[in-house]
Amino acid sequence: MKIFVTGGAGFIGSAVIRHLINDTDHSVVNIDALTYAANLQSLTSIQDDARYTFERANICDHAAISALFEKYKPDAIMHLAAESHVDRSIDGAMPFIQTNIVGTYTLLDIARSYVQDHPEFRFHHISTDEVFGDLSADDPAFTETSHYEPSSPYSASKAASDHLVRAWHRTYGLPVVLSNCSNNYGPYHHPEKLIPHMILNALHHKPLPVYGDGNQIRDWLYVDDHARALVNVLLNGAIGESYNIGGHNEVKNLDVVHHICDALETLVPLENAKIKSYRDLITFVKDRPGHDRRYAIDATKIEKTLAFKPQETFESGMKKTIQWYLDNAPWWTEILNEKYDLKRIGEAS
Ligand code: NAD
Repeated sequence: MKIFVTGGAGFIGSAVIRHLINDTDHSVVNIDALTYAANLQSLTSIQDDARYTFERANICDHAAISALFEKYKPDAIMHLAAESHVDRSIDGAMPFIQTNIVGTYTLLDIARSYVQDHPEFRFHHISTDEVFGDLSADDPAFTETSHYEPSSPYSASKAASDHLVRAWHRTYGLPVVLSNCSNNYGPYHHPEKLIPHMILNALHHKPLPVYGDGNQIRDWLYVDDHARALVNVLLNGAIGESYNIGGHNEVKNLDVVHHICDALETLVPLENAKIKSYRDLITFVKDRPGHDRRYAIDATKIEKTLAFKPQETFESGMKKTIQWYLDNAPWWTEILNEKYDLKRIGEAS
């Protein structure tokens, strides 16, 4: 198959592309506008492969995206391009409305015409568990039929895009599949997000800012597991269906930070430092407005119908992730030096 991947220079999109090129025979056209969140350095390992092509384009640009459909005649699209950072959506929602809603609409509109002559075409919309809102401690985990109750401008814009995709299936018969995933972590994650932010701040002996009491719970999934699940959903998912993807790893944010601190004690021992322990760097800061308390995914459907199971536990995935950041300073140093305000507080979205 020739697969369009939107947002392929981002965290999850680049993992999907590395998986498609390294582990399958499919070819990929990466369509990305290269916003602040993009990094083509995440794709250097596959960029010279004959099955990989990059096209810089904005998904809101109808003419540009139509021309790419005409040029490449794709068999499928995996739509990951999005504004993805909750804090940024609270500071200013317009880019989220544009990319996540108008951009998704633009792709759907183009795909609706395209599918007339290419009936085998599939539209895979990649979304988040945040569309379901949050859970209290005793609530059962989100299923595919949980109702939508987004809390932030980010999750509201993703919820809107999910609704558009379902409507284009129901009204126009567009062959779609959807997936809603929990928080991802792993290599090539932008330093503004919780786990890399804490690793890099700890390495620089800077404060580790934890929102509120740090008891917010997220269900963590290693990014390469998500990439495998996404390709599985694209190839084997039933048209019109959605699949929840999760890692069975519900962990409190404060415990994530403790985990990182404790791992670094062994990997990068503190010698002649002002602090005695990495945990000394933890500082509690004012909670994010509207902060969701708990997310949890019931992944029974994808496990039973598509035989998907994550390969990494939280411990094994975190070990790989922390080691990757220790071994790949050039990747993140460039972002810290040139593109990113280190003072922002990181929170995975
Ligand atoms: P990211 O912010 O790392 O990457 C987004 C990519 O999209 C960037 O390369 C950016 O340049 C590109 N992009 C943004 N606006 C664009 C536009 N208008 N046109 C073309 N390209 C544009 O995001 P991510 O963490 O890789 O998330 C990818 C997708 O997965 C998103 O749809 C997100 O909602 C979803 N998701 C993320 C998580 C997570 O934990 N990160 C969890 C579940 C679902």
